[in-house]
Amino acid sequence: MKHIRNFSIIAHIDHGKSTLADRMIQLCSGISAREFKDQFLDSMDIERERGITIKSQTICLPFKARDGQEYALNLVDTPGHVDFSYEVSRALTSCEGALLLVDAAQGVEAQTLANLYLAMENDLEIIPVVNKIDLPSAEPEKVALQIEEDLGLDAEMTRYCSAKTGEGVQEILESIVSFLPPPEGDPKAELQALIFDANYDAFRGTIISVRIVNGTLRQGDTIRFMSNDAEYRVEEVGTFRIQRQSEKTLSAGMVGYIIAGIKSVQDARPGDTITLRDRPCAKALPGFKEIQQVVFSSIYPISTDDYEDLAAALEKLQLNDAALTFLKDSSAALGFGFRCGFLGLLHLEVVQERLEREFDVSLILTVPSVRYKCFLKDGSLQEIDNPAYYPDPANIDYTEEPYIKATILMPDRYMGSVMNLCMERRGENTTYHYPTPGRIELSCEIPLAEVIYDFYDRLKSITQGYGSFDYSLIDYRKSDLVKLDILVNGERVDALSQLVHRNNARARGLHACEMLKEEIPRQMFKIAIQAAIGGNVIARTTISALRKDVTAKCYGGDITRKRKLLEKQKAGKKRMKTVGNVDIPQTAFLAVLKSD
Ligand code: GDP
Ligand code: MG
Repeated sequence: MKHIRNFSIIAHIDHGKSTLADRMIQLCSGISAREFKDQFLDSMDIERERGITIKSQTICLPFKARDGQEYALNLVDTPGHVDFSYEVSRALTSCEGALLLVDAAQGVEAQTLANLYLAMENDLEIIPVVNKIDLPSAEPEKVALQIEEDLGLDAEMTRYCSAKTGEGVQEILESIVSFLPPPEGDPKAELQALIFDANYDAFRGTIISVRIVNGTLRQGDTIRFMSNDAEYRVEEVGTFRIQRQSEKTLSAGMVGYIIAGIKSVQDARPGDTITLRDRPCAKALPGFKEIQQVVFSSIYPISTDDYEDLAAALEKLQLNDAALTFLKDSSAALGFGFRCGFLGLLHLEVVQERLEREFDVSLILTVPSVRYKCFLKDGSLQEIDNPAYYPDPANIDYTEEPYIKATILMPDRYMGSVMNLCMERRGENTTYHYPTPGRIELSCEIPLAEVIYDFYDRLKSITQGYGSFDYSLIDYRKSDLVKLDILVNGERVDALSQLVHRNNARARGLHACEMLKEEIPRQMFKIAIQAAIGGNVIARTTISALRKDVTAKCYGGDITRKRKLLEKQKAGKKRMKTVGNVDIPQTAFLAVLKSD
């Protein structure tokens, strides 16, 4: 065990985590850059063909240190996004230490902080690493100072590297060996294995990534999941080399995989404890939580013929994404689709992109919603994440909505505009401090619903890309909620209904009307677009009827422009949904999702 080191790399997105991991793999496996690339791309292509994508990858690096000893360095990868902080925390629990990677040109960002706090909660030993020192704009000393003052980490420990050129990477591996503690645990004790990830393999089923905390596990053992008492027979255990390598046993301190004929990743829940049926441990490892979806949206295929393809694609995605949920849903306007649950808005975007790119289905998504609590007058509680099921307001006593604590890190010159943004979005209890001169860390309590509505994009544009953002759910609070409907020529387009705070209803309604007016092509008749709460119209626009020639507004002159317009209309046709007698293009649905 004293020759094992389990560590993780924590970083803000784009600070170079993947590049550094690649460089380390390459150094430890002793293969040239070209071979390395070929080898890796190959294994990725195979995985792609099987319909799975490499998400977090854990790898065991054999490393011969200066002391002449051979070490096994387990690099436990973590998902790189705020939506996945629970998964990150489970992965960190599997480690004794972490590299805190900071871009020498960007400095500390919000996710650096958020991940650092997670690591500290798990008592990890931390080695700060300043990356990208090869960049002309790099300011390694300044960033090191920031790490010391801002994060309170020991500057003596800071290492410098360029993951791109490889400079300094060997030294980091040495530091891992000398500064990070080896794992503890008793190989003879009852088995306690922590699940920190699960991946689906078309041939072998679910492959569970575990950290063995205590005990020893062998092929043929019968294991039990502590959260639900499910039992499986172990087919294979092993470690993560470049390819999976089967081993006779996995014992305390080791990181490795278990294959046990488990059909779906949903059955191997991160944070759960695995033990042995015949010699169970007394207590599960602490910290297990059920995954919670917080953002919901309905997904419809543009073409109803694609419904089966969409269903198959979602099933495939879910094989490897335990956090994605979906249920059949239907809409008068859009036909059959699925109500999907996500960990956050970025998770939603990733799923949308993968469905469109990998599975080649064009989609319409409805306005994302959080899950509200509706307390009814008869004393019952309904949890609502789909406007379609919003109860009759006459029966509602009151509603509550989820709040988050947002942490925003930015140069201080943007403070005023960011404060305004938070206030506009109903932020409360705003506090701030200056972690380093010139930079502000602002915290505020804000409804999740306000954040999923384009908050991140606005923040990025207000701070010209210098603001970074992180959040965690805190509680539910009372809210004055209304259901906003959109009517096109008097007909309600159910897929465009949204649940919104009363104070936002008019602005959202107006925005939706204007977006639709822009996106819906003029037709042979006048089209009225209205936003309404119950029977009350609160905003309206009109699209006037088409005269004769759509190209007339090009004033004759520019031929190419005319042709472009016609082509655009033709392409748009393919991506239309007809509601009543009005053709609504996909772009219109998407435009309503976005603010400005
Ligand atoms: P991740 O999001 O933290 O995994 O970041 P990546 O490893 O994907 O890197 C983000 C970008 O930074 C990529 O374009 C990399 O090529 C680049 N990058 C990473 N490390 C270095 C470095 O040391 N020097 C330079 N110049 N670029 C780097
Ligand atoms: Mg990456």
